[in-house]
Amino acid sequence: MLEIEDKAILPNDFIGPKKILIDCGLQQGTRSAEEKNFESFKYKPSEADVLIITHAHMDHIGRVPKLVKEGFKGRIISTIETMELSRPMLEDALKVIKTRYPDKTLFEERDLEKTFSLWEGKKYGEKIELFSDCFLEMQNAGHILGSAICNITYRAGDSMNKISFTGDLGNSPSPLLPDTEIVTGADYIVMESVYGDRNHPSKEERRNKLKQALLDGIKKGGTIVIPAFSIERTQVLLYEINNMIEDKEIPKTPVFLDSPLALKVTDIYKKYSKDFKESVKEEIKKGDDIFNFPGLHIVERTSESSEIETITGPKIILSGSGMSEGGRVVNHESRILKNADNTLILVGYQGVGTLGRLLQDGAKKVFIDNEKIKVRAAVENITGYSSHKDSEHLLEFVEKSAPKKVFVIMGEPKSSLFLTQRIRDYLDIDAVYPEEEREYELS
Ligand SMILES: [Zn+2]
Repeated sequence: MLEIEDKAILPNDFIGPKKILIDCGLQQGTRSAEEKNFESFKYKPSEADVLIITHAHMDHIGRVPKLVKEGFKGRIISTIETMELSRPMLEDALKVIKTRYPDKTLFEERDLEKTFSLWEGKKYGEKIELFSDCFLEMQNAGHILGSAICNITYRAGDSMNKISFTGDLGNSPSPLLPDTEIVTGADYIVMESVYGDRNHPSKEERRNKLKQALLDGIKKGGTIVIPAFSIERTQVLLYEINNMIEDKEIPKTPVFLDSPLALKVTDIYKKYSKDFKESVKEEIKKGDDIFNFPGLHIVERTSESSEIETITGPKIILSGSGMSEGGRVVNHESRILKNADNTLILVGYQGVGTLGRLLQDGAKKVFIDNEKIKVRAAVENITGYSSHKDSEHLLEFVEKSAPKKVFVIMGEPKSSLFLTQRIRDYLDIDAVYPEEEREYELS
């Protein structure tokens, strides 16, 4: 939470500091981490004036309706794209939470409606007045559609100060989105550090690995299942597979998109194709439907989902959830893992304690719905399809932005601490890894 003292107002009009919240997400991963989501906020939601959302991933938006339920009445501001993506994401989350925690309530349908009545969708680069002498401007973070670096300028004495919240920063160049914009003139940057201590393989290497895994799987003649996150990963994979089939790098193979949520998200991606990078816009202009190709089947009903595996011959199934925690992909896994002709391709970060993580770590048996399943299918792990910048590029972002001070947040402690140290050592810029619940005073 950012508190801003409104010094532009005369003392007798002084109404106390304004409070700005940035993001309000869900903790994800292990059950004990998830249980924390039901706890009360450590501040009074009714006292916050504005909530700014950087992007539509659940760990940034998941508790917004809970915040509204518990008294938040201020403005909610994000890009238009983030606002639109957030609706199917939160509707889906409501269903998932109800199933996983039938005895608990995080928020309800009416809280969702109220949330969207407070939500304002804005454009990148628009100067938005939050309070007197306090403005918000959003830049493209290149992480997922609509993702924004949120820059807040506010009066500090005779001058204006600028603090930038990065949200998650994209792994540029992305196949679809333009590169992350660079922040200029910031006094402070509050930045993510998910991959603060690791680097990704090159974009060419990851594409080659995916191609090879698909070729091997197709050759065996079995089913290839790819658990994929609904936002960005599914669209990037559709785009990559589309190109590989069109360029005859892999044989024509039926591809099933079996995720109702990813389908809704893909429609929003199509609606905002103006946000794609220039080269992709060129392809679209030439008539290529980048998320559609011969052989792509959209699976709408659950009943159709279980029928896919009755189709003989090689096939590719893209399904959610990305870490195999619920969703249709788990049903596919319970069927395909037993057979050595099949392939599971993991393309994303798998949280500790998830089924995806067990499989990534090479488990020889897993339990799905209390059934013990021997893992005989090939499990391929492809890193590099992350939509986060790696350590090298996070450092480069700070170097180009050249702020006075950096607060390194949103990573496992070892990642954040490693990046903090690198910023200090390599760039000679003041960097801190803030302690939870401690207050920091800015100039
Ligand atoms: Zn994100």
